[in-house]
Amino acid sequence: MSLRPIHLLGSPVLREPSAPVPEVTDEVRRLVDDMFETMDGAEGVGLAANQIGMAIRVAVVDAEGSRIAMINPTIAEASGKAREEEGCLSIPDVYGEVTRPERIILEATDQHGAPYRLEAAGLLARAIQHEIDHLDGILFLDRLSPMKRRLLVAKYRREHKEGDSLLREVARPSGRTP
Ligand SMILES: [Zn+2]
Repeated sequence: MSLRPIHLLGSPVLREPSAPVPEVTDEVRRLVDDMFETMDGAEGVGLAANQIGMAIRVAVVDAEGSRIAMINPTIAEASGKAREEEGCLSIPDVYGEVTRPERIILEATDQHGAPYRLEAAGLLARAIQHEIDHLDGILFLDRLSPMKRRLLVAKYRREHKEGDSLLREVARPSGRTP
């Protein structure tokens, strides 16, 4: 397993719609392992493959006791509405309140190639939707009001100057509980 650098806001791959995965190969499994390790190292609750530079439909989530790999994920059903603060490993130190469906049913394939269905609510449902957005080239900033988005992007630009690296190196996790 290895840690991968995370692409930051401004990196074009974050805006690329990701391609479906035709088959869950050993290469895909290795990618999933690396993504779990990178997500843990960055202390995130989710990570999409394009955040580490690969525009394919693979994402991982670890929230509310569920640690899942999602290959070719789709939202089969969605209901309710919830507004909570979100952040993103690709947009450090920026947070905004995003309204999303509160409950969802996820359909995806796991890292062993088995299809599954998962009912999720709360932070788990939010993280899953955030990661699927990434696979479609959508960032949580896009779901804010235009004014809020302008404010947050301006704040980010003050702290991350043009010409700064668009890659963020992730340190090995120090001792996170499993
Ligand atoms: Zn994100």
